[in-house]
Amino acid sequence: MKAAYYDKLEGYKAIKIGDFPIPDINEDEVLVNIKAFSLNHLDVWVMEGKYPVAIPLPHIFASDGSGVVAKVGKNVKHLKEGDRVVIFSGLSCGVCERCLSGKDNKCNSFRPLGVLEDGVSAEFVKVPAVNVFKIPDSLSFESAACIPITYITSWHSLVTRGKINQGDTVLIHGGGSGVGTALIQIAKLYNATVITTVGDDWKIEKCKQLGADFVINYKKENFVEKVKEYTNGQLCDIVVDHIGAQTFSDSLSCGKRGARVITFGSTTGADTQINLRYIFGKNLTIHGVYMGTKGEFAKMLKLFPDKLNPVVDSVFDLEDVQKAYEKLLSRQFFGKIVVKI
Ligand code: ZN
Repeated sequence: MKAAYYDKLEGYKAIKIGDFPIPDINEDEVLVNIKAFSLNHLDVWVMEGKYPVAIPLPHIFASDGSGVVAKVGKNVKHLKEGDRVVIFSGLSCGVCERCLSGKDNKCNSFRPLGVLEDGVSAEFVKVPAVNVFKIPDSLSFESAACIPITYITSWHSLVTRGKINQGDTVLIHGGGSGVGTALIQIAKLYNATVITTVGDDWKIEKCKQLGADFVINYKKENFVEKVKEYTNGQLCDIVVDHIGAQTFSDSLSCGKRGARVITFGSTTGADTQINLRYIFGKNLTIHGVYMGTKGEFAKMLKLFPDKLNPVVDSVFDLEDVQKAYEKLLSRQFFGKIVVKI
């Protein structure tokens, strides 16, 4: 099978295209013929050697893919050859107390597909059957490939941990990113007032089209001051900060008393100074979020493509996969970048 892979941890420029054997599956696994995969910053951290585990080399990478079931193990009853599917990229042991209570993203062995195991940048991938979900015909492979990490992280942040309510005011950083676009869509399901930030003026109108009520270019305006202005000093019920070092301390200032502040991703770095008085003085709760559970995924998937629909920025051919990652790192995109196979 054809696959994009790397054999040294030197970033996206080390990606090559090569031939690999089609994986063998066991009785509880499914072989998926991948049609599209989407890019995540996680892929870059792994390929640059920044992920805190030893990556097996050569490595077929990427976590989020969609495709068609090519083969099922003999214990698999809920899928058959030819089903159109998306892969939930959170893998876990399946037998521990947390997995059995439906909290699989808190399992000790929880990890994204495409890190310790071969990922979806190939014509075929083998995955546990419990991670494979059917998609409706109305959802394209390109759109489906955008859902797993991006939408489950956004859903887990706002719905499960942030406990978003009708009419809440939510600050979402990086409104043009994959998670930014997903967070805006999910917040609008709850009729939230959405304030978002962008780093380029051309993204402002696109965020508004998605439903954002206020868009701040953080390079030109102080986002804390603008949040105060837009909320008449009331501040936000939920703040989602996936930017990290550059913004987190100021993000705390945007939460009202009792606000929930969500952190994940930290694309600008993870080391930051915070003022603890902001946290206890305002009764803030900080939630660290790492993806979400299969149960949440199954429920959320019902909302695609009518209530939620990924914003696909661009679709690259597998041969141009390096260009796709170059675009991701340029930040000059809106939504998700996809590679088709
Ligand atoms: Zn487990």
